[in-house]
Amino acid sequence: MNTQPVSRGMFDDVMVPNYAPASIIPVRGEGSRVWDQDGRDYVDFAGGIAVTSLGHAHPGLVGALTDQAQRIWHLSNVMTNEPALRLAKTLCDLTFAERVFFANSGAEANEAAFKLARRWGWENHGPEKHEIVAFRNSFHGRTLFTVSVGGQPKYLEGFEPAPGGIHHADFNDLASVEALVSERTCAIVVEPIQGEGGVMPAAPGFLQGLRDLADKHQALLIFDEVQSGVGRTGYLYAYEHYGVTPDILTSAKGLGGGFPVAAMLTTAAVAKSLGFGTHGSTYGGNPLACAVAQKVIDTVSQPAVLKGVKHRSELLRKGMMAIGKKYGIFEEVRGEGLLLGCVLTEAMHGRAKDFVGAGMEEGVLVLVAGGNVVRLAPSLIIPESDIDEGLERFDRAVARVVGQAG
Ligand SMILES: *Cc1c(COP(=O)(O)O)cnc(C)c1O
Repeated sequence: MNTQPVSRGMFDDVMVPNYAPASIIPVRGEGSRVWDQDGRDYVDFAGGIAVTSLGHAHPGLVGALTDQAQRIWHLSNVMTNEPALRLAKTLCDLTFAERVFFANSGAEANEAAFKLARRWGWENHGPEKHEIVAFRNSFHGRTLFTVSVGGQPKYLEGFEPAPGGIHHADFNDLASVEALVSERTCAIVVEPIQGEGGVMPAAPGFLQGLRDLADKHQALLIFDEVQSGVGRTGYLYAYEHYGVTPDILTSAKGLGGGFPVAAMLTTAAVAKSLGFGTHGSTYGGNPLACAVAQKVIDTVSQPAVLKGVKHRSELLRKGMMAIGKKYGIFEEVRGEGLLLGCVLTEAMHGRAKDFVGAGMEEGVLVLVAGGNVVRLAPSLIIPESDIDEGLERFDRAVARVVGQAG
């Protein structure tokens, strides 16, 4: 085993500089706590950006992974495998879906969804039916197609020419969508709750409005639930909360609880357009990944776990609102379930990341969503005692930031 000592300082010598990681390096995790190289502990309100849905080193997930590791790791899509078939069946049983495609990341699941929508339009209506309507401030991943559909131009800067035929409307503004949708539209793509864009939930009626527009123009409706899915809102998928069913749904992040895996769910009719040979992925549907995801879905879909998300959400929301009030820093705490965005007051605009740094100093991990929102996405089963401890630590972190500001 390679035991060469490593430190944060090495990052700049050996890694591409596209990230700017924190000064600490966590080495171990258990439940909603992680420990760094010096043995300091942190309460994890970040969940690896909505990924570690059942916390760190969950015994059930460790068991599923090690059990599968001793059977078979990888085959190829020349053959199918038992964990992939079981997981696909489970996802079909628990959702609107009738067909599943597996991938390894959110971007890849979305890439599959967008390619499927194009191919569906081409096959059923002709090549002119290829336009995609998406939203400003949305995020769908970092491949060239997904940053092009995403509504944050800074992620595309310097990478053009981008794929064409993509239009951006304003989130929660149906009129702006109506102006862009036509018979040329093959799909409308939306996050039911914009995650990276600031934890912005769809307004009542907005998603139904998109459903109606898609139906009127014979376009597909795609929900990107990479962040909002897998129990995060207290529903297995957020579309259930909104009561609006898409034609395609993408899932990743929380699906593997920290193991890379993603899925694109769709109907049997739409799935037909990804016929044999049209699309693929070496690792998609890998037995290890699917065995872990199976355990995640079996656990998260239990009514007690989903109910627990709503309860924990109330505790965390109340605690953050109280801190916000005490220091006068939050305009509101928005979001659903355990995807919460604490919106900074105007005086604090641009300072969201200061809370991440101060949080680390005080032993609590939080996230940002843009410059003005502190985002929380902890484990769906975070112990209440860790919520309390994390809130106490965050209170001290805020005192630091506000002290510096004064
Ligand atoms: C994180 C995220 C993605 C991208 O997922 P990756 O696994 O990083 O490729 C796509 N869509 C949404 C909504 C996300 O939050």
